[in-house]
Amino acid sequence: MSFQNTLAYAQAQDQADPLRTFRDQFHIPQQNGQDTVYLCGNSLGLQPKAARAAVEAEMTKWAELGVEGHFTGDSPWFTYHATLAAPTARVVGAKPEEVVVMNQLTVNLHLMLVSFYRPQGPRYKILTEAGAFPSDQYALESQVKFHGFDPEDAIIEVAPRAGEHTLRTEDILRTIQENADSLALVMMGGINYYTGQVFDMAAITQAAHAAGAVCGFDLAHAAGNVVLHLHDWDVDFAVWCTYKYLNSGPGGTSGVFVHERHAQNPDLPRFAGWWGHDQSVRFQMKKGFIPMPGAEGWQLSNSQILPMAVHKASLELFDQAGMDNLRAKSEQLTAYLEFLINGLQQPKEALEVITPAEPSARGCQLSLLVHQNGRQLFDTLMANGFILDWREPNVIRVAPTPLYNTFEDVYRFGQFLAAHFQR
Ligand SMILES: *Cc1c(COP(=O)(O)O)cnc(C)c1O
Repeated sequence: MSFQNTLAYAQAQDQADPLRTFRDQFHIPQQNGQDTVYLCGNSLGLQPKAARAAVEAEMTKWAELGVEGHFTGDSPWFTYHATLAAPTARVVGAKPEEVVVMNQLTVNLHLMLVSFYRPQGPRYKILTEAGAFPSDQYALESQVKFHGFDPEDAIIEVAPRAGEHTLRTEDILRTIQENADSLALVMMGGINYYTGQVFDMAAITQAAHAAGAVCGFDLAHAAGNVVLHLHDWDVDFAVWCTYKYLNSGPGGTSGVFVHERHAQNPDLPRFAGWWGHDQSVRFQMKKGFIPMPGAEGWQLSNSQILPMAVHKASLELFDQAGMDNLRAKSEQLTAYLEFLINGLQQPKEALEVITPAEPSARGCQLSLLVHQNGRQLFDTLMANGFILDWREPNVIRVAPTPLYNTFEDVYRFGQFLAAHFQR
């Protein structure tokens, strides 16, 4: 690729971008009356303009129909979640019956662990990544304790080698093999939130299964960011939030994948609720839980229509754009960002990209390790209209997303950094 560090080049790339019109479908946060350079879709995706009308339609339905909204109108609330299954399945590479949208991410992770972390005899350990997102760490820790084990003993963490920032796939696979006799579960992020590293989910799943363990992923940073093939990779379960790359609003709803071989198995232990019960007899209100076939059988409560309306509006954009097209643009945008950073006139001791250079091992995000005055640089960027995020102790995460970011956004960020390091 022959990138150029000029505004004219960046603007020409934007004009040639087949996805360029999608930016107009989003509200871009403003600073001093101008569009900010929003590079924070990894933390909270921007609001699709269609979201407000989608919520208002449900508010109107509620105002006009009251309880009747459950069974009448365009998308009756009784089956609202089901309308999200097909577009969700397209985002994560699943069959529609293998996914369900419900609850929030950490709740869903616990529900999945209840079903899929089933320690038996000597097989009770969980393998995960060192430095996982804290909620994942706490979920695993508390589940292990719930089963009467000591987290220190029962949780195996794979860490980067000395002097390295990311995990080597060979180290993950070897650790799985070495612990084959004691592993009950392999559970990690699909993308590490801190470094932006994409894990080789297909290879990890295969190794986990070969070791006799179950395998699941937290896809908070992967869903809507990279192309996933959960069904074909044979993943057992996965969970994700919808407010990061999926642009479905703060604290929005969450998605769950359960591979069909489990989804049809009513004997799996699970924490049940009435919304997971066989729909045809749900309102008979009788004893004896009969799960819905598929991932829907893990539902607890009736659907959260307002956040789901936002999610539905957002998923329509993903369908229009297509994950493969989004990913193609994303690789270009992130490679351009990398090109500009590599061209900065400053030593590695000042600033270093810790995200893998290999495109298949990263999504949108580059994590910049800033060794000196990182917080100051971050604050200066924010004050000048660049919206990014800061992760202690010294990382700035920069995530150009293909739906609403431009090459010009990335160029402007590069210019600002270059000026900063020349001072
Ligand atoms: C963002 C994120 C979460 C957040 O969990 P919530 O239940 O949505 O608050 C959890 N895990 C990972 C890996 C994340 O990136």
